[in-house]
Amino acid sequence: MRQWIDKLRQEKTLQSEEFRQLLTKCDAETLRHINKQAQEVSLQHFGNKIYIRGLIEVSNYCRNNCFYCGIRKGNPHIKRYRLSMESILDCCKEGYALGFRTFVLQGGEDPGLTDDRIEAIVVAIREQYPDCAITLSLGEKPYETYQRFFQAGANRYLLRHETYNEIHYSQLHPAEMSCKHRIQCLRNLKEIGYQTGSGIMVGSPGQTVEHLIQDILFIEKLRPEMIGIGPFLPHHDTPFAQFPNGTVEQTLLLLSIFRLMHLQH
Ligand code: SF4
Repeated sequence: MRQWIDKLRQEKTLQSEEFRQLLTKCDAETLRHINKQAQEVSLQHFGNKIYIRGLIEVSNYCRNNCFYCGIRKGNPHIKRYRLSMESILDCCKEGYALGFRTFVLQGGEDPGLTDDRIEAIVVAIREQYPDCAITLSLGEKPYETYQRFFQAGANRYLLRHETYNEIHYSQLHPAEMSCKHRIQCLRNLKEIGYQTGSGIMVGSPGQTVEHLIQDILFIEKLRPEMIGIGPFLPHHDTPFAQFPNGTVEQTLLLLSIFRLMHLQH
C-alpha cells in the first residue's frame, strides 16, 4: 500500500485501480502513514498556520429539499431567520476588529435573498473592507447572477457538488435537482473568475468506493481552489435520520488524498 502513497505524493495522481486499493484496503497503519505524508506536504505549502474565516450564516430559508439537509424546505420544525444587511455589516465590523480578513456569506437558496439584495450587501462589504476576501455560499444561480456578484466584489464561491455520480446524486436530492446543472454551475464559476470551492460528504447514504473514485477524478480535473470534505452526519429531521454517519477514518483518508494531489510541494 505504501507504494501507492509514495506514488501519489510524487506524481499527484493514481490510476483508478490504485485509488480503489487505497480506499478499500487502508488499515490503521496505512492511514497513519498517509496522514503523515499529507501533513508534511501541508506544512510545506501553508507553514504551521491556521487560516481563519469569518463565516456568517445569512439565512436558513431554502427552496430546496436535499434529503440530508436540516434546513430543507420540508422541515417544519426549525425556526427560520434571515439576517438584515445591517446585521451582516455588524458581523463584518466585529470580525474585522478581531482580525478576520475573509467573510463567508453562507445560506440556503433563499428566494427572499434576492439578487439585488445580495449584490447590495456585497457592494457594501467591498466598499468598507477592500482588503478582505468575500466568499459566497448561496447555492445554484444563473450565470448572469454569478457574474453580477463577481462584478460587485465577491471573489470566492463555495458549491460542494456532493457526488459526481448522477444516480447517487438522485438518491441524495429530489427529482427537480440535477447533478449536471450543479457541475455546470461549478464550471461557470470558474469561467467567471471566482476562486471556486467544491467537495463531498464522506459516507453519504448510498455512496460506494466507485463514487468516491469518480469524485476524486472529477475534482482532479476541475482543479478547484478550495475542497470541502466532511463526514455525512444524519440530521434527526430529515429522511436520512436513521442512516449511519461517515467515519472519521475515511474522512481523514480522503483529506490526505486531496492534500497530496492538490497542494504544491
Ligand atoms: S440547497 Fe443547501 S441549504 Fe438548501 S436543502 Fe440543499 S443542502 Fe440544504
